[in-house]
Amino acid sequence: MSALLEVRHLTKKFGGLTANRDISFSVKEHEILSVIGPNGAGKSTLFKMISSFLPTTSGEVLYRGERISNLKPHIVARKGVVRTFQETTIFKSMTVRESIIVAQHLRSRASLAGYFWRSKTAQEDIESFGRYADDLLEFLGMSALAGELASNLPQGSLRALGIAIGLATDPKVLLLDEPFAGMNHDETMRMVALVRKVRDDRGVTVLLVEHDMAAVMSISDRIVVLNFGEMIAEGTPQEIQSDDKVIEAYLGS
Ligand code: ADP
Ligand code: MG
Repeated sequence: MSALLEVRHLTKKFGGLTANRDISFSVKEHEILSVIGPNGAGKSTLFKMISSFLPTTSGEVLYRGERISNLKPHIVARKGVVRTFQETTIFKSMTVRESIIVAQHLRSRASLAGYFWRSKTAQEDIESFGRYADDLLEFLGMSALAGELASNLPQGSLRALGIAIGLATDPKVLLLDEPFAGMNHDETMRMVALVRKVRDDRGVTVLLVEHDMAAVMSISDRIVVLNFGEMIAEGTPQEIQSDDKVIEAYLGS
């Protein structure tokens, strides 16, 4: 199977600090690939470059063979490479269902002017957005929360809403930065099952940054390990767990 996403010699410098140094790996279609490493290792920076929220210092990211690094983030998202945000604050005054409808505008055919003038295309979109929101909520087991204000949701459901908002844009590659942070064991296991379902049933390729090692080892097909901005290992969960450099990076810090 050929690579869906290719990270080639990515380097990111913030002034004198090198947050990522010459990182290269590829991601296959339908894979769940996790990026792990101690705090400050450069994981979030890597995800921001892949989703084009940060320009690269050097190197490039290819999606289906086409360069996507250093484009505008919404253009990369439209192509299907989508990063979810922990900060869903802008949606907090909306209900769960409304948040998902708004998120779908990213893949809408109608212009904003079309919505204003209530064009036929815009009307059709609004109806199909509502139907799709309902389908998505059912898929995620969140139908009962459709009318809840996002601000009233408990942490676990808010995180699931973040994934729902990401899925609303119909991604091919979903980048999740610490989706299980602050969750207890049961919530984490529910989210692990949800992420796996997103891959299995929707065919979405998933890139994950996560600290919960039990979750990472159970969900990942492959793991990339960063330490001080450098990639020190790549392999299956089994290979990574017995890698001397990885053990040293975790135990030595
Ligand atoms: P991780 O997600 O692995 O914890 P980050 O990618 O957030 O690590 O950060 C890697 C390094 O880059 C850290 O030393 C961090 O302080 C630094 N860094 C991240 N973003 C910026 C920025 N916008 N400006 C300056 N330094 C940054
Ligand atoms: Mg981070």
